[in-house]
Amino acid sequence: MLFGSTKDKSPALTLSEAIVQGLAADGGLLVPAELPLIDISLLDEQLDYAHFAAKVLAPFFAGDKLEGHLKHICEHAFNFPMPLKLLYDDTYLLELFYGPTASFKDIGCRFLAECLSQLSIDHHKTVMVATSGDTGSAVAAALYQQPNVNVIVLYPHNKISKRQEHQITCWGDNVLALAVEGTFDDCQRLVKAAFQDEECSRRCSLTTSNSINLARILPQTVYYAFASLQLYRKLNKKAGFIVPSGNLGNVTACYWAKAMGFPIDEIVMATNANTTVPDFLATGVYEARASVETMANAMDVGDPSNLERLRYLFKTTQLLQHNATAFSVSDEKIQASIKDVYESEGVLMCPHTATAYFVRQQLQDRLWVMVATADPSKFETVLEPILNIDIPPSEALHALLQRSTTQKNVKADLNEIMQLASQQFV
Ligand SMILES: *Cc1c(COP(=O)(O)O)cnc(C)c1O
Repeated sequence: MLFGSTKDKSPALTLSEAIVQGLAADGGLLVPAELPLIDISLLDEQLDYAHFAAKVLAPFFAGDKLEGHLKHICEHAFNFPMPLKLLYDDTYLLELFYGPTASFKDIGCRFLAECLSQLSIDHHKTVMVATSGDTGSAVAAALYQQPNVNVIVLYPHNKISKRQEHQITCWGDNVLALAVEGTFDDCQRLVKAAFQDEECSRRCSLTTSNSINLARILPQTVYYAFASLQLYRKLNKKAGFIVPSGNLGNVTACYWAKAMGFPIDEIVMATNANTTVPDFLATGVYEARASVETMANAMDVGDPSNLERLRYLFKTTQLLQHNATAFSVSDEKIQASIKDVYESEGVLMCPHTATAYFVRQQLQDRLWVMVATADPSKFETVLEPILNIDIPPSEALHALLQRSTTQKNVKADLNEIMQLASQQFV
């Protein structure tokens, strides 16, 4: 399969080229030439997750130099459970946070890391990534001490939780973590600027692992495929999915899984107080905004990159409006939802997942799956005062919190960042 640009002006790339390049040369996002239709009746019910994944992703890898490695990549990337749990009548929770850094981002990042480690064997690469909290730690954990790969993580100073920061700054070696004076959008701008700076991009052979990278979106299609098929076989119903959304990578994967023929019905985005997407769907006019800070900070995105992929998928704004729903959930409602689900179901939810829970209450009864994107114990500073309980770190978190950290601050300035990088990666 070949991959093209959402702007349709760049030549087609192979999967490997698309992964390394990250963005299309014309500045668009990379998308598959077509979304393969998977015959679900050919997927054996006995397949375990990794082998199911290899089958679902095979068409994307066809003809690429990574094709022969796909099974190995899936076995190594997907080595933790992703349970689908019944919360109450016909409402399920798909828990995606049992990886090493306790958010769903481990899934895409581990898959990308496995692909990159195959691809950098004969050419050293530097991964540069902007994070609003969870991406940075997932990328760092996945690439730490992988040969031939360096990592630069940019995160907004003082805008992420202490446990999140610890998980980003506890690596060292081939991982440089920098607290940028600015917002997540500033960090994202710096990554884009580094790519556009030819000298910088070539000298360090830059690649990105933000959710614009295909090797993060593709593996995320698999859990939607797996969960929807599991429910369909059990209940003979198509499930709707409610996806806590920020940069829209996760929900893009859900739309792709649906287009590939998996039994998915309605798809609903839950955003925090950043209303860019709900406003766009309501008016049909896109207006990027500065991001506002919320307690669901990994979704504090005012100009979501992956909207371009959704617009490309649906061709016209009208069709996109027809196929997409988005609700904005305020911090007050997030707080109330965290309390409500704890009191009524005895379940701890991270603030991101709580947006999906709130949205579920606004929707009609039918088969719904809420996507649980992070371990609640990663957000103890939010949850503890709301619930008046102590929330100890999960096992994975505890392991990371034992590691010592190095904190480095930097201005929102590309030259300063590259200088620190050349000191770290001698
Ligand atoms: C990144 C993240 C999100 C948002 O996912 P997108 O793919 O950016 O829409 C939601 N919840 C958590 C916990 C995250 O880390």
